[in-house]
Amino acid sequence: VSVTDLVEESFKRIAEVDGKVQAFLTLNEEEARETARTLEVKLGSDESKGLLFGMPIGLKDNIVTKGLRTTSGSKILENFDPIYNATVVDRLTTAETITIGKLNMDEFAMGSSTENSGFQKTRNPWNLETVPGGSSGGSAAAVAAGEVLFSLGSDTGGSVRQPAAYCGVVGMKPTYGRISRFGLIAFASSLDQIGPITRSVEDNAYLLEAIAGVDPMDSTSAYVEVPSFIQSLTGDIKGLKIGVPKEYLGEGVQEEVKQSVLDALKKLESLGAVWEEVSLPHSKYALATYYLLSSSEASANLSRFDGVRYGYRTPNAQNLIDLYKKTRAEGFGDEVKRRIMLGTFALSSGYYDAYYKKAQKVRTLIKKDFEDVFENYDVIVGPTAPTPAFKIGEKTSDPLTMYANDILTIPVNLAGVPALSVPCGFSNGLPLGLQIVGKHFDENTIYRVAHAFE
Ligand code: GLN
Repeated sequence: VSVTDLVEESFKRIAEVDGKVQAFLTLNEEEARETARTLEVKLGSDESKGLLFGMPIGLKDNIVTKGLRTTSGSKILENFDPIYNATVVDRLTTAETITIGKLNMDEFAMGSSTENSGFQKTRNPWNLETVPGGSSGGSAAAVAAGEVLFSLGSDTGGSVRQPAAYCGVVGMKPTYGRISRFGLIAFASSLDQIGPITRSVEDNAYLLEAIAGVDPMDSTSAYVEVPSFIQSLTGDIKGLKIGVPKEYLGEGVQEEVKQSVLDALKKLESLGAVWEEVSLPHSKYALATYYLLSSSEASANLSRFDGVRYGYRTPNAQNLIDLYKKTRAEGFGDEVKRRIMLGTFALSSGYYDAYYKKAQKVRTLIKKDFEDVFENYDVIVGPTAPTPAFKIGEKTSDPLTMYANDILTIPVNLAGVPALSVPCGFSNGLPLGLQIVGKHFDENTIYRVAHAFE
């Protein structure tokens, strides 16, 4: 096949199914075709080719793309055309992928179902009545529906892994610092990380390899060598030691989900791994800690949307303060407002020690739980989410049950360690995900296990 064929195949599939799935917010048709033509010329030559030469890719709409509308799922950025590229976008250009378009998401990545998008509700391709997960629901649904082969999402508390699980695809949240966040519209900067979503573990390793590594534009990107993730896919997991946290198979986790994890462990055992029950005792504080810290950081990060510099501006302002107030009242959705209020409250003087500082201390304890287990085990395994995809509308009226859905992914972000979700069966015809968590900067072992398993 030619590069143009691949790109046309992608747009054809989008035309066929996206009316129903609604994964894309913006298509990049003209530029994608142009890039395909340029790459086509290279195809016949012996010039060296990029790692993902000619591969169609979709990007979550909080990753800024020069000249291509980037909304972060928010009305406040409805007409925002960035003047620069995120570092990952430049790296994809080097890898010679082709950007097909931008993908729907919960507004500013706040949510677990993509229902908080300011624009449209993405559907789960396996069952259009159910959510694709979130906040990277568009990214997972587009890969599951065959609209693109690769996509990027972002994961602050589970937003790559949970939609990957719900849509039956592979999603990796790398170690904090593994990938530059330059050009990722910030939600909670100490937790945010971009992550690849693909059909197979092998594709996922390729995509991470293409975008990982230190970046002078992001001081939190880590000066750690990027190994060849692809070469870790040996299929050999003999002697591997797996820890299974008892907190991850407890109350609130559906029976079918537990069973799928036990079946997965059996399979891993048959491949030569051994597993034992372990404990992450501070997990029960993870949700409270996460929603406090992430909302605090969000309240500061989102102060830049003021109607002055870029994005939406209210047409009805009487004076400057009125301009700020009306722009933000009209531009932000309910969930975003809820988080800003929670965050500014937690950070206000008199409350700071009781909430923010306390949460930081608990975060350290949660991180230590992981370090303790990793003294004796190579990976930690459990479910990605407590249930399969839920029905559209089922949780929208109760933010707390929506938050509770993240219970198994959030501790990983607080600890900063890498984790991947790989499909591990079905419940009621809906896909389930197995979560494999690794040591800091040891994505290689995760890929090795996931590849042997899949
Ligand atoms: N669902 C979580 C939240 O709403 C996680 C979101 C994410 O990872 N971006 O904050």
